[in-house]
Amino acid sequence: MDPRILGLHHVTAIAGNAQRNHDFYTRVLGLRFVKKTVNFDDPGTYHFYFGDERGSAGTILTFFPWAHITPGRRGTGQATEIGYSVPAGSFDFWMERFNAHGVTYNKPSEKFGEPYLTFLDPDGLKLELIVPKTDDPRTPWTTPEVGADVATRGFHTVTLTLASAKATAEILTDVFGYTLLEQHVNRSRYVTDTVQGAACIDLVEVPGEAASITAGGLVHHIAFRVKDDEAELYFRKLLLERGLQPTPQIDRDYFHSVYFREPGGVLFEIATENPGFTVDEPLDELGTHLMLPRQHEPRRALLETRLPQIG
Ligand code: ZN
Repeated sequence: MDPRILGLHHVTAIAGNAQRNHDFYTRVLGLRFVKKTVNFDDPGTYHFYFGDERGSAGTILTFFPWAHITPGRRGTGQATEIGYSVPAGSFDFWMERFNAHGVTYNKPSEKFGEPYLTFLDPDGLKLELIVPKTDDPRTPWTTPEVGADVATRGFHTVTLTLASAKATAEILTDVFGYTLLEQHVNRSRYVTDTVQGAACIDLVEVPGEAASITAGGLVHHIAFRVKDDEAELYFRKLLLERGLQPTPQIDRDYFHSVYFREPGGVLFEIATENPGFTVDEPLDELGTHLMLPRQHEPRRALLETRLPQIG
């Protein structure tokens, strides 16, 4: 056995209006709606998954849309930027699209030698399009409006803002096998060589900044990918040995999860590749049915009337 962390698995964030969230990610950004399910712990709320064709690890952005959520605040102890990889030359297309849809964005800039374009989703979640130094080999999901020459390839980097980066960096290097790639002012980029995409984590250290408030438009947690249960339990044991407090393994139907609060305050998850999103829907029908976990299936009729219609 060679247990490794294979970059990012998914990122989960908090949204407001469910339809608006669905429309932004499927229509404006051109992602596939991979799964429509409910928050397992709060089944009166949806849990949406957006990604590539099959919801491959490293492409999945998920949301809990709470209609009446108050806006959160970016600060320390949280993932504050979610960066997607896009092809070189695609920024003009994206800026024109953002103009047409009223999306807030900044003019392109560069970090670690890679051009990036920052934009906000309708709830204020901060996202980036990044052109990686080497071409991203991942096959994108495409739509009639967002073709392969411009479509997102999945995650490139997630940025964590921290009051102190040291202890978080040690989790990345000593437990997860990442290495420090580059450092510029207060931003350090850590990378794993186990995967070709979703391989980077940036740590930004801002000692005086207030802690983030996790609510609308903020990230809830980030999940790292492992191959299987055996690898997940191996890393859980390493975390216990370091005095951290990982949860027991939890079955999330589409993957198996272990959560822990890293020392910098960010909620981390380790998630398995198995069984994946085709476990309860065929590939060509992903996202088209309301899928409920077994324990909530008896309440389907009630939940279907309570959850807002999405289309
Ligand atoms: Zn998760």
